[in-house]
Amino acid sequence: MDSKSDFDSEAILGELNDIVHKYDVPFDVQTVPNIQEWSSAQGIVEENSSRSGAVFRNIENGRYLVVLANPITSDMIRSAIEAMLMNDFGDATDALWEPKKFVTHLLLHEVAHALDHSRTERQCDEWAFHQLGIRCAV
Ligand SMILES: [Zn+2]
Repeated sequence: MDSKSDFDSEAILGELNDIVHKYDVPFDVQTVPNIQEWSSAQGIVEENSSRSGAVFRNIENGRYLVVLANPITSDMIRSAIEAMLMNDFGDATDALWEPKKFVTHLLLHEVAHALDHSRTERQCDEWAFHQLGIRCAV
């Protein structure tokens, strides 16, 4: 599983925390080796074994926790971009082949869910692109 193309998301945790602190809702960001296993340990059922990001709300203190996989593999990036291409994001996805940009978009996608629970996957991707200043024509 260890590949040279794997991206160490933990290495940019400081920058990711700086990003979420811009929003008016309290967020924490954590990286875990496997989101499915981490979820299971919290008593949460996660069907997707290769999930790269998720957001949870701590009902005791109201804080949101964004959990990101570490490492982010090239397979995770490819499958997420393929899903976005199916949703007509087109050229906007080009920037996401750069792993750091991908992780930032992934983080913002989870933030989008937390800020508005009614948003669809597509709306979260669109919002995340806008936060990154990337134009998308969906
Ligand atoms: Zn989502």
